[in-house]
Amino acid sequence: MGLDLWIKRDDLTGFALGGNKGRKLEFIGAAIQSSGAEAVVGCGASQSNFLRQLSGVCSILGLPCHAVCMDYPFLDESRRLAGTKWQGGNMATDTLFGTIRHLVPDGTWDDLDAASDQVVADLERQGKKVFQVPLGGSSPLGIHAFVEAGKELDQQVSQPFDFLLTASSSGSTQVGLTRHFHDTSTHVIGISADPEPEIVSDLVDLSVAYEQEIGKGEPLKAEDFDFRLDYVGEGYGVESPAGREALQLMASREAILLDRVYTAKAFSGLIDLARRKEIGGRVLFWHTGGTPTFYAHSS
Ligand SMILES: *Cc1c(COP(=O)(O)O)cnc(C)c1O
Repeated sequence: MGLDLWIKRDDLTGFALGGNKGRKLEFIGAAIQSSGAEAVVGCGASQSNFLRQLSGVCSILGLPCHAVCMDYPFLDESRRLAGTKWQGGNMATDTLFGTIRHLVPDGTWDDLDAASDQVVADLERQGKKVFQVPLGGSSPLGIHAFVEAGKELDQQVSQPFDFLLTASSSGSTQVGLTRHFHDTSTHVIGISADPEPEIVSDLVDLSVAYEQEIGKGEPLKAEDFDFRLDYVGEGYGVESPAGREALQLMASREAILLDRVYTAKAFSGLIDLARRKEIGGRVLFWHTGGTPTFYAHSS
């Protein structure tokens, strides 16, 4: 396809089996530690990569980690795969790290947030000081981690990229990278792992919160985000046929594993955009990780 394709291996960030959440947790973990919290509450899908690495941080800090999870967080009731229960993968590591799992019935991301608030309220009623982490670690500190990641990339290469593609879901990866590369020659594209178009307004809200607390600059606007919903397939966590092909291609050519939920879909987007000549030149694929879900299975 004539691309000069590079891969940023955040699947190899190292901590607790790697992934992009390790970058966010470098900062969020420090905030948890200095807060004096006695318990940590996070939420996500039951195969969440974020909850795995958050559980790892809590192990090190010696704090109980409450993981509020859904097997299939879906906005659209009709898309849900009835009765699928996950095992293995990230849930196996969470168990080893001693995570206290609160499995709640499938529903929307908002339902999941509400369930997380409920667990926080219950713990506070018991007199505990609680640190609540938002979905995917997408707080101002999570964004900060990816502004810093952008600087790291600048130092690693002598020539800028024309395009940078990343999987996008809770948003801080895309917001941080877009913030860093805004007004440069590098165009950042987020390939969504969720079917909800209103995520763009979440990206804007995240940017506003980041600038208020840390960045002290102008927040990004909706039009500053190139956010693509075309490669989600049936929905969050459901493998797409194009993603399956992308995963197979990457494995057979480079011996690099993609995950079904995020990176396979993102890479299928990269292939499609290259075929349509929407992207070209020096292209960076930010491999955000997720390898452990390769070993997840439903029961
Ligand atoms: C969480 C996650 C993403 C999305 O990152 P966000 O910052 O939540 O948008 C992408 N890929 C993998 C493997 C992830 O675990």
